[in-house]
Amino acid sequence: MSKQTDDFFKSIISHAKEYGFVFPSSEIYDGLSAVYDYGQLGSELKNNLKAYWWKSMVQLNENIVGIDAAIFMHPTTWKASGHVDGFNDPMIDNKDSKKRYRADQLIEDKIDRYEKDGKTEKAATLQHDLDEALNNDDLARLKTIIEDHNIVCPVSGTKNWTDVRQFNLMFATQMGAMADGAEQVYLRPETAQGIFVNFLNVQKTGRMKIPFGIAQIGKAFRNEVIARQFIMRMREFEQMEMQFFVRPGSELEWFAKWKETRLKWHLALGADTSKYRFHDHVKLAHYANAAVDIEYEFPFGFKEVEGIHSRTDFDLKQHQEFSKKKMQYFDPEINQNYIPYVVETSVGLDRLFLTVFANSLVHEDLSTEEKQDSRVVLKFHPAIAPVKAAVLPLTKKDGLPEKAREIMAALKMEFSIQYDEKDAIGKRYRRQDAIGTPYCITVDHQTLEDNTVTIRHRDSMQQERVAIDELNTIITKLVGWNNLLKQLI
Ligand code: ATP
Repeated sequence: MSKQTDDFFKSIISHAKEYGFVFPSSEIYDGLSAVYDYGQLGSELKNNLKAYWWKSMVQLNENIVGIDAAIFMHPTTWKASGHVDGFNDPMIDNKDSKKRYRADQLIEDKIDRYEKDGKTEKAATLQHDLDEALNNDDLARLKTIIEDHNIVCPVSGTKNWTDVRQFNLMFATQMGAMADGAEQVYLRPETAQGIFVNFLNVQKTGRMKIPFGIAQIGKAFRNEVIARQFIMRMREFEQMEMQFFVRPGSELEWFAKWKETRLKWHLALGADTSKYRFHDHVKLAHYANAAVDIEYEFPFGFKEVEGIHSRTDFDLKQHQEFSKKKMQYFDPEINQNYIPYVVETSVGLDRLFLTVFANSLVHEDLSTEEKQDSRVVLKFHPAIAPVKAAVLPLTKKDGLPEKAREIMAALKMEFSIQYDEKDAIGKRYRRQDAIGTPYCITVDHQTLEDNTVTIRHRDSMQQERVAIDELNTIITKLVGWNNLLKQLI
């Protein structure tokens, strides 16, 4: 990371904390690694992002329905899905610093360095060797690569490495109070399996016809070997996943469709197209016949925000085998029974939150010849802004606060509104800019005479005078979900 991007990333973390968006978990006890709490504004923003996703999936599509499955699942689920045996990361310890790393990430960092130094051929060979070692689950080879390329521990600077070992990322716990009767269960590492095990329930009770989708938002847990980059890689995080069940043979067409649909969804939030790119998987998971990541350009480079995977019939077939329940669908159009194929879209809510934050945080220089001035603004799309409008009496006297309270009381039935009467009006505007409030409604002396107020627009800082009676309609128009959703169809 260059100094400039490093500073920008630091400013995201400190702004998120200072204004009540994201706090380290249990901070009074010095926090818990890779676990974060969302504060008073962060939880509002997160709720709005969830609503945007849910509406675009479930509300806009007649053939997609949503569920909310439990975090705990029967342990056989994870045998069937392959997570018990295969949800591993290769890890390596440095004996001097006692620090633990993901072996593949150490090598990837080296590839990045080769590329930065213009050693493109070396980078390509190393990438090829890494892919081959990972494909063959060859842990000894990973260690040899690390040694051959003189990869040292960033902390101790030495090459005193342990062997590479597999590390299962699932958190296990005991269910049941009796020690001998307790059963080992897992905190789900993805929400998708809650959808697969409910495939028959939803298909039958909802009389769903293929193609159809099941959507879900919920927590997932992964004991990540190393945690870094703020809410990018957490041990407890939230996913928004949709499994789309299709006729075998049509999956690649649907995969292409979902790939475009999902990119459009991200772009509707207002980011520049150049901030996003597709990254096709070269190395496919054993169950997939196509996979792509949607990557966003974070201050630390392009990284995955969402994965779109054509998972074939792998999951349903596995559950059929382990549960001995038929996971079939009778397709009346072709008069055939089959196990549907699945195209999955899976976006991390926390990573999405970070993209929105990184994309919205702007330091603006407003200096003129007369005076120096600047402001920090969160330019959220109004539909997802945590606070839609602030009601501000110009002064604390002459009946202005009472009038402002009246306006607030009417608007708060529909929108999330803040009231603020402390400090000079300019300072209050800046406070609202810093939390991304798109509109400020100012009540002044003229208000008492003609029942009008000013609306200040966050991005342009322009003000217009409008009638109080019109406020509800105007704000609805400005912050309504259709501003976002209409871009998707
Ligand atoms: P990565 O390669 O970055 O570990 P992944 O390929 O394992 O991610 P998936 O299993 O495809 O991720 O999960 C789908 C989405 O869930 C990801 O695109 C990401 O947005 C989110 N996600 C996965 N792991 C984490 C995590 N530890 N913290 C936050 N979000 C995560």
